[in-house]
Amino acid sequence: MNPAAPTDAPARAGRPARAPRPNGQWAVDGTAPLNHNEQMKQDDPALDVRRRVEEVYAKEGFASIDPDDLRGRLRWWGLYTQRRPGIDGGRTAQLEPHELEDEFFMLRVRVDGGALTTEQLRVVAGVSTDFARGTADVSDRQNIQMHWVRIEDVPEIWRRLEAVGLWTTEACGDCPRVILGSPVAGVSAEELLDPTPQIEEIQRRWIGDPELANLPRKFKSAITGHPSQDVVHEINDISFVAVDHPELGLGYDLFVGGGLSTTARLASRLGAFVRPEEVPEVWHGVVQVFRDYGYRRLRTKARLKFLLADWGPERFRQVLQEEYLHRVLPDGPAPGAPVGDADHVGVHPQKDGRRYVGVAPVVGRVSGEVLAAVADVAEAHGSRRVRLTPHQKLVVLDVPADEAEDVVAELGALGLQARPNLFRRTTMACTGIEFCKLAIVETKATATRAVAELDARLADVQKTLPSPVRLHVNGCPNSCARIQTADIGLKGQLVTDDDGGQVPGFQVHLGGGLASADREEAGLGRTVRGLKVTADDLVDYVDRVVRRYADERDGDETFAVW
Ligand code: SF4
Repeated sequence: MNPAAPTDAPARAGRPARAPRPNGQWAVDGTAPLNHNEQMKQDDPALDVRRRVEEVYAKEGFASIDPDDLRGRLRWWGLYTQRRPGIDGGRTAQLEPHELEDEFFMLRVRVDGGALTTEQLRVVAGVSTDFARGTADVSDRQNIQMHWVRIEDVPEIWRRLEAVGLWTTEACGDCPRVILGSPVAGVSAEELLDPTPQIEEIQRRWIGDPELANLPRKFKSAITGHPSQDVVHEINDISFVAVDHPELGLGYDLFVGGGLSTTARLASRLGAFVRPEEVPEVWHGVVQVFRDYGYRRLRTKARLKFLLADWGPERFRQVLQEEYLHRVLPDGPAPGAPVGDADHVGVHPQKDGRRYVGVAPVVGRVSGEVLAAVADVAEAHGSRRVRLTPHQKLVVLDVPADEAEDVVAELGALGLQARPNLFRRTTMACTGIEFCKLAIVETKATATRAVAELDARLADVQKTLPSPVRLHVNGCPNSCARIQTADIGLKGQLVTDDDGGQVPGFQVHLGGGLASADREEAGLGRTVRGLKVTADDLVDYVDRVVRRYADERDGDETFAVW
């Protein structure tokens, strides 16, 4: 078989066929780099930049950093330069990278499965306080992101994190990123399977493996054994979702090729059943398919979803089985409709009789101080474990049942609510113009204001809604806050105001959502032609839409259906 993707060179009558343009697939075209990024990765393995940080850059400072390391290889260790303060969104596309960035970094700590001990949480809090001006955001991929980090401090930060088993290895870059895992893995009373051993095995064997450190682009993974399907599996490059096979018992259904950004695609089921102990091997096989056959010519076409779109699931499964696994996977069933809330906010029973308490910060923003205080609250009640969720929430595990309400109150005093109002619970926002070099508009503060106002204005209305309305706010088209999967998704851009001026605003996507207890199947939100709102009008717009939904819906019609 020839697994090369279709090419764009049909023969025209009377003319010789043009030679097909290579897609940069290593297994088909060879490994000659076709662009600067590929060249950079081949010139010097990205993971090797760590040695230069420790031996040169941390001693000689920001100005000593090679540009390919600065904007390229440092990402493999979780470091991005951050946006210079004061540059408005209208200039984002006009300035050169060195004009947009300042000498500080965003540092991303990968937290596979979102699982932290209170000891680890204290170390993260200390790094935030000592080296990141107290910043700490819980991302929608179970990472913690800090800002204002100086290159001089990075070796000490690595030393502190790694001393407690935390890493920034491959937190960014063209490599296997953090593995999303059910935040209540191993504890939830409703769980079908605990994916923790598989997450730990993948991390131990392959995160930081040079053989997988030069992928065409980022590779996102997710695995859950919880019936709420709590890891946004439809929009990862690979996902495993627990199913009960009628003959083979409990295992996982395999999804491949999801992703958002500017070309959104929901993941495809391969129809294959994966036993729990086979998950690491199958994960490794799929990463290798991506490494060898993924498109490297155009960075905008390099995610696995583009290969999947061209090959289709049957061919992908065939290549995976024949060339990488060397055996056939059994067919398996699709997961049923999700059951329960995937954000885990509130007080819930554990299988051992204790409780877990999920709380909502506002759009994932916390701080070193708050994280240290969360560790204090947890430990005061005998807990040593905290989890982060893919919905920018935190969960304290192992709370004695008769102390759960005390924990709710103590976390509430930190601004972390276990029983939040609608928009506090459902609103997510990406980093935006405060720190992101690609941003066009501000997001975190805008969304924070919107949450406060909407929850106040719609206090009565929201109690009558049959299902939540999810609001996601993005600072540019890249969709880090998953706008296409929100009931109301807002994509940051400059818009024209009533006076004809260009002002920060958003294009509106409506009706998207991932599979959830109130929505059987995922669907991508649609842009409504010409529907844009200014940042100043955002609250009024959402207020109007939600009131109309409340008034016009038919019975229990969800927002997406309405
Ligand atoms: Fe930055 Fe755009 Fe991602 Fe927001 S969506 S964090 S603005 S790249």
